[in-house]
Parts: sequence; structure tokens; C-alpha cells
Amino acid sequence: MALSVSNHRLAPAIRFVSSPNIGGALQPKFLVIHYTASGEGFDTAAYFAKPAARASAHLVIRRDGTIIQCVPFNAVAWHAGKSRWTGADGRVYSNLNRNAVGIEIENWGPLKKTGDGWVSWSGQPVPDALAVEACHKFGRPDCGWELFTEVQIEAAFEAARAICAVYGIAEIVGHDDIAPGRKSDPGPAWDMETFRAGVLAANKRVA
Ligand SMILES: [Zn+2]
Repeated sequence: MALSVSNHRLAPAIRFVSSPNIGGALQPKFLVIHYTASGEGFDTAAYFAKPAARASAHLVIRRDGTIIQCVPFNAVAWHAGKSRWTGADGRVYSNLNRNAVGIEIENWGPLKKTGDGWVSWSGQPVPDALAVEACHKFGRPDCGWELFTEVQIEAAFEAARAICAVYGIAEIVGHDDIAPGRKSDPGPAWDMETFRAGVLAANKRVA
């Protein structure tokens, strides 16, 4: 489905679960991709709606491709934490929350191999067909990773294309890029090169 942005929300209207965990005005310059480190049984948007979570993101994309918005795109969400990135403009940005739209994609992240197959950090079994064995680009952890679903990738692509077009965002990064060593999301199961190039090329075609 082709998405656009209206009044700092994705359009056509999607489910909005408001998070109180927001800062001031956002000047969007970057798009940051995350995984939630959780499975389908955990409602990340409901978690972000609790003040005690002290975390949020603009969008959550569930395994079935459903997109939930938690923070409007003109407000700072709390997804990046301690972070640092040198932009294409040569400026060094720290605390990327002030300049980045954050998308959380439902995915366990790293998996452990047991005698019976792959399991998440919480011990939840993950079928072999949903796991890939790969090394993180920064070396660790070297393990299995849960695959993202096709519908998640499509939903993230459509949302990212719309957001980048409206706010003139030309840089898409992983949480691991801006907090290397501290964070490993979205990790090697997320094909960032293809995603980034596809989103930016799609917007170039319509510009
Ligand atoms: Zn993250």
C-alpha cells in the first residue's frame, strides 16, 4: 500500500497508540532502524504507552506487517539513547533522538543454538526456517538471527519512503551504526544496503 504523511502521521490513517515518552520538536535528518528484541506475544506499542518504559519510537512494525504509530514525526521519540553519527553534511551529531525518526521492527534479534534448535534470549523457540546464522558487521555477537518477514520489509519500505520524501531525509542508519558496541540492531538479518538504496532511489524517481 502506498503511504504518505499527513499532519506528521502516516496516511491513510493507521493505528495510533500514543506514547508519553517524548521530547521537544524533532528536526528529522536521519531515519534509524531498530529491532524490538521481542516476539509476537509482546505488544511494544502498549509498552511505549507506559511512562515507566522511558522509551518510545515513532513507528512499530509487527511480524504481520501492521504498522502502529506511537509518536508524531514532529516530536522527539526516545529510541536512540547515547548515540553519535557524522552526517553527510560533516557535522557530528550526538543524541540522535533530536534529529532522527525511529522505526522499531518486531524481531528477536540474536538467537542461541540449543540441542533442539534456535531460541531467543528469553528461551522462546524460533523455527530454523526463520533463522539465519551470521556474524554482525562489528564482529559480535556471532550467532543466529531471526529473519524479518516479507510483509515487515514491505511495510518498512513504504513507511520509510514516505517519511524520507516528506522530511527530505537522505540518511538511513541502523541503531548499531550510531551506537556501535552498545547496540546490535537491526543486525545482519536486515539487508540495510538494499533497503537504503531502494528507499532513496524510489524517492529520486518521483522527485
Ligand atoms: Zn534499537
